[in-house]
Amino acid sequence: MGTLSKIWNGFLNIFGLRKNSKYVKNYLNEANMRSGVFMSFVIFVLEVWLVIRQMKDYAIPRIIAPKSNEVGLLPFEILYKYTSVYFVLMFFGIAMFVYSLQYLSKKKSLSKMIIPIVAASFSLAVCCFLPLEFKQGIQNIRFSGTLDTTAIYSILRLVFYGAIFLFDIGIIYSSIYRYKGGKRESISSVLVISLFAFVCLTFGVMVSYSDFTSSTIYTGIQVGINEKTGDPIIKDVLGNDKYNKQIICFLMFTIYIGCLLIWNPMISIGILGTLFLGFFFLLDHVASLGGRVVTDGDKINYITFYISLAMVAMSIYSQRLSEAKKDEELEELATKDTITGLLSFEYFTLQVREKIAQYKIERGNSVYLFINITNFKVYNDQKGFKKGNEFLKTVGQIISDVFNENSLITRQSDDHFVVFTINLKVQDKIFEVARRVEEQDPEIKPSIKVGAAEVYDPREDPHYAVEKARYAYAELKRMPTTKIILFYDDKMHDNYLMNQYIVTHIDEAIKNGYLKAYYQPVVWSKGRTLCGVEALARWVDPKYGFLSPAKFIPVLENNQLIYKLDKEILRIVCADIRHNMDKGLPVLPVSINFSRADFGVIDIVEVVNEIVDQYQVPHELLHVEITESALTNEVDLLKNTINRLHAKGFATWLDDFGSGYSSFNVLKDFDFDVLKLDMAFLVGFNGNEKAKALIKSVISLADQIGMKTLCEGVETDEQAKFLEEASCGRLQGYLYGKPLSYDELLEKIQKGEYNISKEKLY
Ligand code: C2E
Ligand code: CA
Ligand code: CA
Repeated sequence: MGTLSKIWNGFLNIFGLRKNSKYVKNYLNEANMRSGVFMSFVIFVLEVWLVIRQMKDYAIPRIIAPKSNEVGLLPFEILYKYTSVYFVLMFFGIAMFVYSLQYLSKKKSLSKMIIPIVAASFSLAVCCFLPLEFKQGIQNIRFSGTLDTTAIYSILRLVFYGAIFLFDIGIIYSSIYRYKGGKRESISSVLVISLFAFVCLTFGVMVSYSDFTSSTIYTGIQVGINEKTGDPIIKDVLGNDKYNKQIICFLMFTIYIGCLLIWNPMISIGILGTLFLGFFFLLDHVASLGGRVVTDGDKINYITFYISLAMVAMSIYSQRLSEAKKDEELEELATKDTITGLLSFEYFTLQVREKIAQYKIERGNSVYLFINITNFKVYNDQKGFKKGNEFLKTVGQIISDVFNENSLITRQSDDHFVVFTINLKVQDKIFEVARRVEEQDPEIKPSIKVGAAEVYDPREDPHYAVEKARYAYAELKRMPTTKIILFYDDKMHDNYLMNQYIVTHIDEAIKNGYLKAYYQPVVWSKGRTLCGVEALARWVDPKYGFLSPAKFIPVLENNQLIYKLDKEILRIVCADIRHNMDKGLPVLPVSINFSRADFGVIDIVEVVNEIVDQYQVPHELLHVEITESALTNEVDLLKNTINRLHAKGFATWLDDFGSGYSSFNVLKDFDFDVLKLDMAFLVGFNGNEKAKALIKSVISLADQIGMKTLCEGVETDEQAKFLEEASCGRLQGYLYGKPLSYDELLEKIQKGEYNISKEKLY
């Protein structure tokens, strides 16, 4: 059974009887078009040569001295008679050549469309003299009253011109259709190539027939009387003294289509078979008219040729088919996302480019959507990896269902999908997707959030456009809203440009000294004498002016570049301390901020050590601030970092305590020296007894576990007094000064505006 079905399958494959995928069809079609390029070029060159030859040998001499049956014809008619076929074919060659080139190239251009149309129009113009041809054909048939060779030849010529005529119309139609955005694998190109093959065939048959039977044509003239009308008539004498055998022309054109029509061998075999049989019939008919007899030898030759040709067609077909299938597999691998079966992201961007090149993208009529599944992490954690993947697949399916065929859909990474679609009822569609995604698990309630970016510039890089949609999504995610879709707008665009600027200019800013360290005073709550400063980064940009950390810190953090800034601020601080020590100026301990995004990118301990030692700064003069949010993941790494910093003599401060989801475990698990209460504690401080109680208990808790305390954002005397009573050790805030430049700070200290604490500072 297995072997039988294998044989059956092989049979189906060889004869091209299996239904092919769209990709394979397209591949074969392209292979045909590629053959078309070469063949049409050969035809063109051949016909140029023949036109010249026909003019020189026949047309011009016969215009000067017409043959008997040409007496009375206009010079133009004689010219037409001897060269029209070749002219027509020459234009035909050009039209097909450029058409197939244009088909194969991915880009469309007006000139590539115009040339085939113009060439086809010329060819059409020559065909327009068909009535003339037709008249002669009818005359020829009438003369003999029977289907003699001349009549048959005339009929063949009529068929040939008819084929050319259809081909020209086909080329014009198809060029316009394709230019207007018709599909590549469209029926119109199949039509053109079929007509091309048909023209080649009829021409081959016609010329070969004429050559084969030329012994019976034009060997002389006879003047006679029409029996019915009594009119004198001039009639050609048919002789058989010449034996031309330019069957080669027929064979050549047969090979042409043999190679061309192999998108299905059955078609090739069928057409070739009909053709050969028809040709035999014709030749036999000639013989019966007293013309040249076709010998058995001839017949055997032709049949052998026919069989070989059929075999060649099958073999080429099966070879191309297997290539196409291999290609299809490779492309599937490279173009598909393995989890969802959607397009891979890179392939998606290629497809978008192609789509944009094909269709007119006008301002805002298409849009990129960046879709993120909310609660996917929860889903994945609860249900496991495999179920998570299945869920992604389902979501991909839902998105594909809701957005129509004309949209391109990809999974960019993780649970992020990207859609390129027309900007029509996008909101409704997104709501529909959200509804169906929510339905998948009523408990975990996964849903979607979407950033959208409309396309205004067709030349825009799809990667960049997707970034904009992602940016809009990120904005939406930060907003406290139930909205699920947000469009990228001008304001976001300005921000986006700013962010780009920061990312691309951080190195330059460091190199050119645009980054500065500002210092904010920290005072003892007892006596309010200066006990240190916090170093805070500033970016003084030649283009944008003074930038606040709120602008550049998050951007650098998101792009894993914050370590560059932190290293630089540390370097500046160390250089400043060194400077003061060398000049005998007052020296204060400085606390330095490290971002949670530094962990894993650099080894903080190593970096601090290296720079501090480079400037020979005493370790006790530097405190390292780490924010609470850094502690959520990578617990061991952080513990290890803190311990090593301690071992090297650097104090560690816990920054922004109470700003996020505070966990008292943090206090238990990590050995920080100082706890910095976030300024959020002081918001709405006035009259809020609860806030006061909370601050008090946090301070006493810290005290009990041996941590010192500092409160940030102190702006009023009342706050300061309260904190002092609550025994908060240090105070920092606008009440004691905003962050200052190094020079300003020095000046204020020297003027005595700040009293440096006499007690041990650290
Ligand atoms: P932070 O570390 O919590 O720094 C304290 C911020 O509060 C500073 O803002 C400071 O100017 C501000 N501030 C101080 N006293 C008061 C006050 O009384 N009232 C109010 N309303 N604000 C006060 P800044 O300098 O804009 O810095 C913002 C944040 O940027 C910092 O928060 C820190 O997280 C980050 N940052 C600044 N410099 C660096 C740095 O060199 N490296 C890293 N990784 N982050 C930095
Ligand atoms: Ca800080
Ligand atoms: Ca802080």
